[in-house]
Amino acid sequence: MSERAKPILPGAAIGVLGSGQLGRMFAIAARQMGYRVHTFSPETDTPTGQVSDVETAASYADLDAVRKFAQGVQAVTFEFENVPSACVEAAAAFVPVRPGGAVLHITQNRLREKNFLASSGFPTTEFAAVRSVSDLPAATAQIGFPAIMKTASSGYDGKGQAKVTSLDDASHSFSGCGGQEMILERFVEFELEFSIVLARGVDGSFAHWGVIQNQHKHHILDLSLAPARMNAQATSRAVEVARAVAEKLELIGVLCIEFFLTKKGDILVNELAPRPHNSGHLTINASRTSQFEQQLRAVCGLPLGSTEFFSAAAMANLLGDLWCNGEPDWPAACVLPEVKLHLYGKIEPRPGRKMGHLTALAATADLAAQTVLLARDKLQAVR
Ligand code: AMP
Repeated sequence: MSERAKPILPGAAIGVLGSGQLGRMFAIAARQMGYRVHTFSPETDTPTGQVSDVETAASYADLDAVRKFAQGVQAVTFEFENVPSACVEAAAAFVPVRPGGAVLHITQNRLREKNFLASSGFPTTEFAAVRSVSDLPAATAQIGFPAIMKTASSGYDGKGQAKVTSLDDASHSFSGCGGQEMILERFVEFELEFSIVLARGVDGSFAHWGVIQNQHKHHILDLSLAPARMNAQATSRAVEVARAVAEKLELIGVLCIEFFLTKKGDILVNELAPRPHNSGHLTINASRTSQFEQQLRAVCGLPLGSTEFFSAAAMANLLGDLWCNGEPDWPAACVLPEVKLHLYGKIEPRPGRKMGHLTALAATADLAAQTVLLARDKLQAVR
């Protein structure tokens, strides 16, 4: 067995690029299984750093710091995919980086991602590249209106996105984003949005948590429920696509695929994230293996864990807006026995900032959603 194919055993140190809540929940799962966690990001006292063994604060462009970091761990993973490829390459010279740089390269750029999906025959929204204003007449003629303009890179939670209904709108959006590369997508009248969070092991093994329904507010995920309210046919088609995407990417690690279910009942891939995802947070309390433990298992070459659910579940995000009247009423939410509170250790509750989440388990996904929303309302209770 080659050195890189051998499992990485408890006691080893795992490096995480990025230091947000995804890294924090990964670190908690990894430490539970006896691993050490080192985190790397430009900041200190971060959500991940607070629960890690070692917190390195350096720029992702500081390749000497990246090399030093990589030499102190047995494998590197990430919780934030906008890490420069030079940083990943510098780490990969010393230890396995999982998922690998090629997966990161594709998923860091919406155009590359959509080209990968379309050229591999996966169903996706119709799109066109916009690299200059002169591309817009042909792109808008091809895609039609309404459409969505998105920056090709560095966009998340709806940042760098605009719905456009005319060529003028599209031109404004393009110049408003500084003339950087963009993608024009057909606006999908969807029935619902859902995701599949999956893992693929070093040996090609595959695990997933089925379909999770997602509701966004102001482009930020607000509520997830599992299982999604979808029929068996659309569900099995989505799982088939998810598995094929993971195979095609030769993924080692966790991947989230966000989909639209159209009003006609078709599924379309919207976006890929090669890491645990906000919609998978409910797996911490609702499944035998959480998405974070699964990331650890995949990255370390351990057998994947069971993704069986204990029951239906729902998750509601807690954004910084919740603090507008002062500290939320935590005991009020904790009164409900089926609700679990997760907070990420962030000091400053800015509007739109993900500060934590609540998860509820119940006999049905709808009941779990009602419960988790009730708990969140209680948090907001005016004192
Ligand atoms: P994204 O950053 O691509 O995940 O987009 C954020 C959210 O914007 C999605 O979850 C959808 O609610 C909405 N959205 C993005 N692209 C489209 C589209 N082509 N048609 C309709 N809604 C979209």
